[in-house]
Amino acid sequence: VIVRAIAEHELLAVWDEALAQHPLDRALTLLTALEPMAPRAELRALSVGERDRRLIELREQLFGPQLKATATCPRCTEALELSAPLAELRASLGAADATNEPEQWLEVDDLMVRFRRVTSRDLAAIVAAPDAEAARAALFARVFIEARPRGSDQPLATPALPAGAVAAVEARLAELEAAADINFELECPQCRAAWSAPFDPCAYLWTEIDVWARRLLRSVDTLARVYGWREADVLALSPHRRRFYLEMAEG
Ligand SMILES: [Zn+2]
Repeated sequence: VIVRAIAEHELLAVWDEALAQHPLDRALTLLTALEPMAPRAELRALSVGERDRRLIELREQLFGPQLKATATCPRCTEALELSAPLAELRASLGAADATNEPEQWLEVDDLMVRFRRVTSRDLAAIVAAPDAEAARAALFARVFIEARPRGSDQPLATPALPAGAVAAVEARLAELEAAADINFELECPQCRAAWSAPFDPCAYLWTEIDVWARRLLRSVDTLARVYGWREADVLALSPHRRRFYLEMAEG
């Protein structure tokens, strides 16, 4: 494992903080490894696509430029190995986000509706909604800004929108969300089944960091037992020297 630029003890602190968190918070905590100075409120205000783009950038810095994963054929359970350049995934999210202005207008019948794109803060706010219907209503209430009769520069006085306008905005939000999704179109070499596999950058990166951190802590444990060193002593060693002492301790 090669950790460049970001110090091991910093990444370990990020892992420690993220361990018990909800995936939405965890994604933002991981981003603090990339941007330690960024206020949490600023990270929460990122669109979901931009958040994922930055998570992929972090993954490239930490573990290299190539995505490697496995998928299982839903028909014959054959295991497939996936490999893709992360820079391409990052670029596709960047392109989707460029068309995704923070605020958008949508024409619905004789109305112009203004709303903003969904951020991590919005998603966190609707996590506790009792059902999907309530979550959708809460999300709409958060991102809706105003509605005007077409050709007017005065917002409607009544906040209640026709159901058709709400449905149209929700459909547009779903489209924007879909543009921020990464899907791999896969075909099984055994049985030719074709399917689409979603890729979650946060879950993917988190699994890698978790494996890395547990391995690091196991080596701290081994060296502490054999040499009586403290955690800070072990982390201060270069990876090469740590591996050398581990081999001595285990050999
Ligand atoms: Zn198959």
